[in-house]
Amino acid sequence: MAAKKNERYPLRIQGYGSAGEGVARLEGQAVFVKGALRGELCQVHLLKVGKTAAWGKVDQVLEPSPGRQVPDCPRYPQCGGCQLRHMTYAEELAFKRQKVQDALQRIGGWEGEVTGIHGAKDPDRYRNKIQFPVAEGPKVGFFRARSHDVIDAPDCLLQPMAATRLRGAFRDWMAAHHIPAYDEKAHRGLLRHFYVRTNRKGQSLCAVIANGEALPQEAALVQALRQAEPNLVGVVLSVNQEKTNVILGKTYRTLWGQDYLEDTLCGLEFRLSVPSFYQVNREQAEVLYGRALAFAGLTGRETVVDLYCGIGTITLVMARQAGRAIGAEVIPAAVEDAQANARRNGVENAEFLCADAGQAAQELARRGLRPDVICVDPPRKGISPEVVEAIVQMAPQRVVYVSCDPATLGRDVKRLREGGYLLQQAEAVDLFPRTGHVETVVLLSKLNTKQHIEVELNLDELDLTAAESKATYDKIKAYVLEKYGLKVSSLYISQVKRKCGLDVGQNYNLSKKEDAKVPQCPPEKEAAIIEALKHFRMI
Ligand code: SAH
Repeated sequence: MAAKKNERYPLRIQGYGSAGEGVARLEGQAVFVKGALRGELCQVHLLKVGKTAAWGKVDQVLEPSPGRQVPDCPRYPQCGGCQLRHMTYAEELAFKRQKVQDALQRIGGWEGEVTGIHGAKDPDRYRNKIQFPVAEGPKVGFFRARSHDVIDAPDCLLQPMAATRLRGAFRDWMAAHHIPAYDEKAHRGLLRHFYVRTNRKGQSLCAVIANGEALPQEAALVQALRQAEPNLVGVVLSVNQEKTNVILGKTYRTLWGQDYLEDTLCGLEFRLSVPSFYQVNREQAEVLYGRALAFAGLTGRETVVDLYCGIGTITLVMARQAGRAIGAEVIPAAVEDAQANARRNGVENAEFLCADAGQAAQELARRGLRPDVICVDPPRKGISPEVVEAIVQMAPQRVVYVSCDPATLGRDVKRLREGGYLLQQAEAVDLFPRTGHVETVVLLSKLNTKQHIEVELNLDELDLTAAESKATYDKIKAYVLEKYGLKVSSLYISQVKRKCGLDVGQNYNLSKKEDAKVPQCPPEKEAAIIEALKHFRMI
């Protein structure tokens, strides 16, 4: 591109990139503009010009979008927690729906439309878990965008007020007793993170993550936290003495109260230990699981496999409406929670395996399990090829895929299609308002043999690009009907053509499954087709 770094251009923003940045075009190439909204005309300052794209920032908005708003947080956009506070929530939802659509279309090769996006009733104060990084100062808050500098944040619009109060008490205790923060570069010091999880009832559980097995002034800390938040149920110390950016340590010691929190979700009760995964937005998680359940189409008899099941949320929601449900999860503490959750809710038809999803799926496939529905809810990296392979082997009628990353979902949708699963329906659910993240739930279903053939025929007919080749099929059909009074399908014609050594489209009649029942051309029709091929001088 001829344009250079530090030059300024008025650019019309045409859409959004995957993080919500505006995208414009300059000299035929994409320019990513942070903080610009779709439809706006902006004076853009180019910060970086690459070979195929450029990056810039907004100098001035010349024509603002009605979707623009004044950010309602004093730490935006320096703080890395939120990315979309310069947009109205309606604009944010439109961006997120489009993000999912683009990924399924461009990466997944899907031609359908995302049905819609389920927005949150309240886009603020939804997070039920906060992990505050701690630094000298003391600073207890959030990382600056794309950095590990800590911004001290007395409040955050994403967190409940209980977390605000507990964080304040923790910081005051640190300051009053001069407790050192951990310095990750030097691998010295003590306090690494402060963790708060809050339930629907407003009860909280705190954890201090420290580079040490004990804290000075532990009793004073417990007292300060209990005073700040009467609904506190426990304070836990998590010991993390490793040089890592993994937040939680491997060992825990209870300083006061209990080391878990209970919460209700979809009418079930869950026990949450500190390291267990639990969706951070409870209200929207209920919407998400409700849609996953609807996509599963359960009648009470089915066998369901739930891979990446965590503490068994989706497994138990599905078990209530199925014959049997099997969950698989890699973290032992989460599996223990899942088993305890099944017992506590009196769910007797759910079992849990502690294993890697790929290994668990392959093992279930080896045992000959034929579930009706497989649900997967993997982390951002999506599912591995072994999981795809095991799904295809177990051959469920439906696959429900819950995803927190539309790009890896797109990739997996493509892989599953190669295994005979077609994307039927996709919906986005906004679990992370004001951030660039979005959740998606999709339904894929297995092509049955009959549909399989039909689809292959259609694909093949598209393969026959020469008009005359297409006409030939129709001519053969008409000839056979007129001369012999027999109706023949394109499938039969292709079978006979192949027998005669003629070229046919690649997809014809080659079932991808060994046990697929492909109808074979009866001898009488075969003879008639051979006559027609001779008539048209093809043989
Ligand atoms: N379905 C659950 C959890 C989803 S989060 C819920 O909605 O609450 C993804 C889960 O996958 C986490 O619990 C994580 O521990 C687990 N996980 C990550 N990698 C895994 C793997 N390779 N095999 C099995 N589980 C895995």
